[in-house]
Amino acid sequence: MSAPPAQTLQRLREQHLYRSRLTLDNATGVEAVISGQRYITFCSNDYLGLANHPELIRALQTAAADYGVGSGASHLVTGHKTPHHALEEELATFTRRPRALLFSTGYMANIGAITALAGRGDTVFEDRLNHASLIDAGQLSGATLKRYQHADAASLERLLRGHPGDTRLIASDGVFSMDGDLAPLPALVRSARQHNAILMIDDAHGLGVLGATGGGICEHYGVSVDDVPLLIGTLGKAFGTFGAFVAGSENLIDLLIQKARTYIYTTALPPAVAAATRASLRLVQTESWRRERLQTLIARFQHGAAQLGLPVSASSTPIQPLIMGDAQSTLHAAEHLRENGILITAIRPPTVPADTARLRITLSAAHSDEQIDLLLEKLHDAIRAALPDQAVGDTRKQAGST
Ligand SMILES: *Cc1c(COP(=O)(O)O)cnc(C)c1O
Repeated sequence: MSAPPAQTLQRLREQHLYRSRLTLDNATGVEAVISGQRYITFCSNDYLGLANHPELIRALQTAAADYGVGSGASHLVTGHKTPHHALEEELATFTRRPRALLFSTGYMANIGAITALAGRGDTVFEDRLNHASLIDAGQLSGATLKRYQHADAASLERLLRGHPGDTRLIASDGVFSMDGDLAPLPALVRSARQHNAILMIDDAHGLGVLGATGGGICEHYGVSVDDVPLLIGTLGKAFGTFGAFVAGSENLIDLLIQKARTYIYTTALPPAVAAATRASLRLVQTESWRRERLQTLIARFQHGAAQLGLPVSASSTPIQPLIMGDAQSTLHAAEHLRENGILITAIRPPTVPADTARLRITLSAAHSDEQIDLLLEKLHDAIRAALPDQAVGDTRKQAGST
């Protein structure tokens, strides 16, 4: 029996790990309105600025008029509607895979896929920094769960050699959600082939963002469809809507329809949301300027951070972590930023490993150059305030004089 709730809560507060929510009064975008105050936000996953796009809103409204709000049942009963089906076909084409299957959330897609494919006697290999839903899925599956060193194919290789099993599944984030770095995909593909393991990539943060047509990490590295037989995408991030999907072979998808418990035993997502996602998928594919804009802003941010001596990780994705270490300083910096009109949430354990609390900065194609510059300036001030003993920012003068 764990401690009583009041005691647990008290301990979380003492450890600076207590979490609380903000209530925003406006639509998702680069600004947030909270209790009448305006903030510029750098913490949403709406990377392409599509969550509040008029075409998505129109598609949602039109479909709601035709299909109502709730889907009324699970997909296998009567919840599977024309917009869901059309979206699945379009997602299959988009990912160049035979078939795609919608799930209500990415969390559920991962739980459903892994528990359907692996069980007792099998082994699931996961990157240490995989998203919580992949780790939970590995544990729930009943398979032996082996975690390899982050983005380290040699570490994976050692584990694969040591654990022969009936089914071997390798699961990795494509873009790591808290670090913004990429999985070493070509090396993972080689290991999977060599050891006859199934490779599953959860590209929640890569789809829409990476690759010339937004095809994600697979398009970025030019790996073939056969190299990644199991691809997970989420729709609440770059696509700006809600839901998730698994893309793969005809048989794999058919198996998930039969076996994935988080597919079978839950209500289908609202058909109007699927209709809005169809509109979003069109924009993701056709408006490549959004990806280009994002890359320009990422470069601007990285360059500015280097000039100011900000300890920002080298990341080529819209996820730009600034690792501060302890939870208290991170909270302090987030607070300082907020007082200066900038909203960035402090990410603390257990979301990230101990002593790697961080400001997880995310950029959107909808941010302006001026907003990035303001962010840099305010970050500099906030870090100086939160970590007064460190030499952060001392390179500012040097940068100007060299
Ligand atoms: C956000 C995320 C998920 C969960 O997706 P939801 O649709 O929000 O449940 C899964 N995997 C990764 C890597 C994510 O970043």
